Amino acid sequence: MARQFFVGGNFKANGTKQSVTQIIDNLNSQELPKDVEVVIAPPALYLSLAVELNKQPTVQVGAQNVFNKPCGAFTGETCAEQVIDVGAKWTLTGHSERRTIIKESDEFIAEKTKYALDNGLSVILCIGETLEERKGGVTLEVCARQLDAVSKIIKDWKNIVVAYEPVWAIGTGLAATPDDAEETHKGIREHLAKTIGQDQAEATRILYGGSVNGKNAPEFKDKKNIDGFLVGGASLKPEFVNIIKSRL
Ligand code: PEP
Repeated sequence: MARQFFVGGNFKANGTKQSVTQIIDNLNSQELPKDVEVVIAPPALYLSLAVELNKQPTVQVGAQNVFNKPCGAFTGETCAEQVIDVGAKWTLTGHSERRTIIKESDEFIAEKTKYALDNGLSVILCIGETLEERKGGVTLEVCARQLDAVSKIIKDWKNIVVAYEPVWAIGTGLAATPDDAEETHKGIREHLAKTIGQDQAEATRILYGGSVNGKNAPEFKDKKNIDGFLVGGASLKPEFVNIIKSRL
């Protein structure tokens, strides 16, 4: 079965009421392809606003992070139940900025992923190696380790989309080449086949993320194991629409 093309937009800690409104108004005004699933992830403060403004049936709203426990005495956190309460359907987990800056462990990320799924959210699970790890030739080992923490506690992957985001490509303007990305995506899928089974591995969408923009997105078009993109910087700009349409 063909995997549906998927484009995520991670706004990171960017935006104001005004700029988030502008981005969504722009999306609302476009004729978007019906067969592309789009998820925008504004900062938690603007999730409600985004849900209220979004009029596109193929666009859903997601959080950038959730906690691994129910709502309670966890100052500063956002719980999955609150994300659901405001009408968002997705969350990211394991973004490299959380892995590297906030020092989230593979296990903590796996727990967050599980809690989100168990409470009805779908998850974009981000993985990827640092430049040092890339140079050390351990890209696939790193991805496997990050995935294994999740597959150890989650058997059903139907509501998980994997985003392969090499850390050295995020926000640097240095996207992986389509060939390099494809090679890693293929390795990731082969690894998933061993851990969650061939059928689930075939069905799981694997997105590429790292300096994708309106210009380079079409270059990934023919890559068999690249099922879409997770976009940071360019999701704040009108060219996000070109990325959504890059398979046309
Ligand atoms: C991201 O933050 O997930 C990302 C891919 O960022 P950028 O597109 O800006 O490299």
